[in-house]
Amino acid sequence: MAIVETEALILRTYNLAEADKIVVCLSRSHGLIRGVAKGCRKLRNRFGASLEPFTLINLAYYQKENQELVSFRHTEILRSHFNLSSDASILTGFAYMGDLLIEFSPPHQANDTLFRMTNACLEAIAEHPDDLQTVLRYFEVWLLKIEGFLPDLRRCADCHRPFEIEETVYVGRDHALRCNSCRDGRGGAMSKSLHAQLRTVEKLPPTKFAEEARGTGKETKREMAELTHQIIARVLERLPRVRPTFVQ
Ligand SMILES: [Zn+2]
Repeated sequence: MAIVETEALILRTYNLAEADKIVVCLSRSHGLIRGVAKGCRKLRNRFGASLEPFTLINLAYYQKENQELVSFRHTEILRSHFNLSSDASILTGFAYMGDLLIEFSPPHQANDTLFRMTNACLEAIAEHPDDLQTVLRYFEVWLLKIEGFLPDLRRCADCHRPFEIEETVYVGRDHALRCNSCRDGRGGAMSKSLHAQLRTVEKLPPTKFAEEARGTGKETKREMAELTHQIIARVLERLPRVRPTFVQ
């Protein structure tokens, strides 16, 4: 029964019995884990404020063989977002990110890109809370990409020919992008600005993307939200449980 030490981001907690909590977190070394923090609801406890959602911690836990729930031993706060906890829209936004991570990331599978991307998004929101919606879109696109659900933005899904700059591309019902000859009369044209925005997401870190997107028109932002939410709903076969106001 080895002790595991890892960085982890608290996503959600549930009360358990009188004094304990079940904690769901995204860990750097083992992906999504669920654990019990014993005694954490007692007045004096070793976990302090470290189990608040979206706190980045150093976590030590152990896991018994064949048991899904791990046991939290020790935590240490690396980064908290208490200063944002009075902003309801940000709390909803964070809860939404947590919900998507829980839905999309398989338990006990480390994914360093996902871990770093999520933390970079939180930092971007902490730095500029007004960019919340833009960063949520960025998060959705990257989450879909990392988990393999984002259509290829650079080449046609059927003939695999790279799209020309300024070429009109078509989105099918399966959300794949196709060229005009392959679409066979199906699918709707994607606006050029949306196509460009999506490709920018792939290139930039979230703070830089948010900066650039401040000049983007409302219509493109709405199209982007519509597309990401359609893909998410198709993958999950429902809409996410927590939903922030999608369009500013
Ligand atoms: Zn084609």
